[in-house]
Amino acid sequence: MSTTVRPVTTSVCGIETHDGAGVRLKRVIGTRALPDLDPFLLLDEFRSDQPDDYLAGFPDHPHRGFETVTYMLAGRMRHRDNHGNEGLLQPGGVQWMTAGRGIVHSEMPEQQDGLLAGFQLWVNLPAAHKMSAPRYQDIAPERIPEIIRRDGVRVRIIAGQTMGAVGPVDAQHVEALYLDVTLPAGASLQQNLPRGHSAFCYVFEGECDVGGGAVGSDDSPTRTGAGCLAVLGDGDGVWVGTNATGARLLLVAGKPLREPIARAGPFVMNTARELRQAVEDFQSGRF
Ligand code: MN
Repeated sequence: MSTTVRPVTTSVCGIETHDGAGVRLKRVIGTRALPDLDPFLLLDEFRSDQPDDYLAGFPDHPHRGFETVTYMLAGRMRHRDNHGNEGLLQPGGVQWMTAGRGIVHSEMPEQQDGLLAGFQLWVNLPAAHKMSAPRYQDIAPERIPEIIRRDGVRVRIIAGQTMGAVGPVDAQHVEALYLDVTLPAGASLQQNLPRGHSAFCYVFEGECDVGGGAVGSDDSPTRTGAGCLAVLGDGDGVWVGTNATGARLLLVAGKPLREPIARAGPFVMNTARELRQAVEDFQSGRF
């Protein structure tokens, strides 16, 4: 059976913005250039060693209808919600939160100085699960399998299955694959992806070539620098490779829901009526 390497269909670079109580971040998905990539609704990268950029954090705010995935590279984040749940995300750890029918929570950096870095990805929920009970998967860093190949390629498996290891997150609605990939200079990785699943590479350190480049591929790869995301077309897998500089990137894939999206800020539903109901329920304290 022949396999095809996915081409890069679009490249977008993140834009600087603020959210929460003034946290500086880079928004990559959820912008005018890339409003969503079904089932992914938003991708933010936060990275700063300036306390003023992050100390104000994300005080109490609601969510309904989707999941938020917070992956910390550096620094700690304290999470508290209105149902009494609380957790402290550690560097290298992840929280996969299913907001379901609704929570009100805060996400606050728990440090006075030093580097705070990480990502938040929003994953849509299918209509049938939008009003499910909230659920938390708090994953300590040591629970995330890390495969280091002999050529120095390092892969942390947050969700999904590859290289003989299984990520700790249960993300069955979209069968998510979420990998943190480090490529030394002159290395490459070919990763199988299910056909039909949406997929992207987000480079956050160095630069790498994405798509094409593999044996038997006619496409030339797309050079993708730090802060930029390559959207992948369909195929059996992705190829990423580096030249003189190494790279670190997120490789994420998931099954598209193909359902209507009605979104406003922290509420993501299927219809305008459900969206109005979400706002009304939040304002009446029914979260
Ligand atoms: Mn939140």
